[in-house]
Amino acid sequence: MELNTLQHISIAELCRRLRRRYGRVEFPAPLPVLDELVATILSQNTTDANSGAAFERLSQRFPTWDGVRRARVAAIAAAIRPAGLQQQKAARIKRILQTLHARRGELSLEFLRSLPAAEALAYLRAFPGVGPKTAACVLLFACRQRVLPVDTHVHRLSLRLGLVPPRTSAANAHELLAQLVPARHVLEFHVLLIRHGRQVCHARSPRCPTCPLLDACPDGLRRLPYERSAP
Ligand code: SF4
Repeated sequence: MELNTLQHISIAELCRRLRRRYGRVEFPAPLPVLDELVATILSQNTTDANSGAAFERLSQRFPTWDGVRRARVAAIAAAIRPAGLQQQKAARIKRILQTLHARRGELSLEFLRSLPAAEALAYLRAFPGVGPKTAACVLLFACRQRVLPVDTHVHRLSLRLGLVPPRTSAANAHELLAQLVPARHVLEFHVLLIRHGRQVCHARSPRCPTCPLLDACPDGLRRLPYERSAP
């Protein structure tokens, strides 16, 4: 299916409306690339506050990445407990550090900054447990490459807005949205859709009548008669 047969609003207009609601989006100060990778793993399935606390505790308990690489999984898990799923995340972080050390003999990913985006993505995806969203987050936020991460909010809103065909998986949405979202809008598209997903376009009960995208949203327009008549 052609993407432009589905789309009811331009990406520029979508970003303009959400910017008016949530404000301008700027890049945060970039972290070292390996720090961003670990921080992104910690952020999976939890809040920014919890993952931030876990990263802080991990840095205090292990001042170097080599210390984490050599530590037992249980000790890493104890340090990152605020992030939740600590056993799984600790094992993943340790495996990544071991793999990186074996590949390069050092614990740094700074060389990714000078690689083309596709090559850097492939390098990151080859680590155990690093999926397309995590790899894209690292490239976008640490390297400021215009690579779009599709998290649960971006995925849900893209489906509802008809930006991708119905039932498109998050993995496939990465490829489709990469073609659709111009490089200059990638950061704000990602950040603004997450804000909108958290504040208005909730998974279970989107607040469509208050949504600035309603007139361009097939899913919202379908829901509206029901929502208006609901008690
Ligand atoms: S109209 Fe409703 S479903 Fe569509 S983006 Fe807005 S809140 Fe989400």
